[in-house]
Amino acid sequence: MAAKVIPLADHRLLASAPLLPADDTPFSGPLLDTLGRPLHDLRISVTDRCNFRCSYCMPKEIFDKNYRFLPHDALLSFEEIARTARVFVDLGVRKIRLTGGEPLLRKNLERLVEMLANLPTPDGRPLDLTLTTNASLLARKAQALKDAGLQRITVSLDALDDTTFRRMNDADFPVADVLGGIEAAHRVGLGPVKVNMVVKRGTNDHEILPMARHFRGTPVVLRFIEYMDVGATNGWRMDEVLPSADVIARLNAEFPLEAMAASQSGETAARWRYRDGQGEVGVISSVTQAFCRDCNRARLTTEGRLFLCLFGTQGHDLRALLRGDRTDPQVAHAIAAIWRGRGDRYSELRAALPPAPADGARRVEMHYIGG
Ligand code: SAM
Ligand code: SF4
Ligand code: SF4
Repeated sequence: MAAKVIPLADHRLLASAPLLPADDTPFSGPLLDTLGRPLHDLRISVTDRCNFRCSYCMPKEIFDKNYRFLPHDALLSFEEIARTARVFVDLGVRKIRLTGGEPLLRKNLERLVEMLANLPTPDGRPLDLTLTTNASLLARKAQALKDAGLQRITVSLDALDDTTFRRMNDADFPVADVLGGIEAAHRVGLGPVKVNMVVKRGTNDHEILPMARHFRGTPVVLRFIEYMDVGATNGWRMDEVLPSADVIARLNAEFPLEAMAASQSGETAARWRYRDGQGEVGVISSVTQAFCRDCNRARLTTEGRLFLCLFGTQGHDLRALLRGDRTDPQVAHAIAAIWRGRGDRYSELRAALPPAPADGARRVEMHYIGG
């Protein structure tokens, strides 16, 4: 049965103007939100466009030829993104992930990568700089991205079976080209590549074991993501979520697994290793096991709105500051004030919340905010 699709109102217009503290002195920490969480990870969406139409993210019925994507002048320029990122690094960010939409669709992205790779950090260590992509253009772009200073890459791939994959991306894109992109990334030194598979019960859960068999014994780290209720267009239903515990049970029945310790606080994936030494897998259980307690991620949209949670309904308009006559310390204080007021923990509260935001607002869409 086709998923129910809900019409989309343009919620991108919802944004609040950040308060501007009078303070023009350099910011000095510590910076914690209301739940004591530091700001460590920044995800930057560089485009709201995509050449795929994954049903769980950009269903074709909504994102069709009449859908109005952002005009070019609404997008932050590379210079604006790099400036904002520099301020975030001064505030404590050590990891930046470029995302979208499909980030490799943004022209000359390697120029932005180079600007970010060269950002100074307080301790002189390079930023952890990575990118999430559907890999449709990766084979062509891997070398330029590596040369520009990208360190690692995450590729999304939801099935090995070509028919299932083409149905899920809804753009008739073949698996072979994604596998070619992964190979190219390894060849140029962007490994170990992580592969993300969103699992939808009844759609691609039969692909869990084939995916595991394929990537076992290779340097690729395969991660299974629970299908999430992000946005307002994908017709999400709880009965289409396959809990990560079931994924692990299915894997364990064929390839015994043991749990691994998290490598750093705030890590989204729980890590498991094959007992026979053939590598590791991860599960991201945002629906069945919330990890809000350690959530140290901020998200910057393509047009410069700051969101503090994937399930937010309102962003903070940083672009207005960047395009106004504001100094970097002023922007830093404004972001710090926003972070200090953060109390988001949607996944922890999900079960107790109404299915849609009570105030009639709409949750931000994944292709706009970035994963
Ligand atoms: N286009 C790129 C890609 O697909 O890798 C980057 C952007 S995409 C929005 C980032 C990640 O979000 C992808 O791994 C995608 O599978 C995941 N994603 C999108 N919608 C999701 C949903 N409803 N539930 C879980 N993951 C989702
Ligand atoms: Fe595009 Fe990524 Fe969303 Fe799929 S998940 S539609 S590839 S942005
Ligand atoms: Fe972070 Fe929001 Fe996800 Fe919780 S629901 S982990 S606060 S992004």
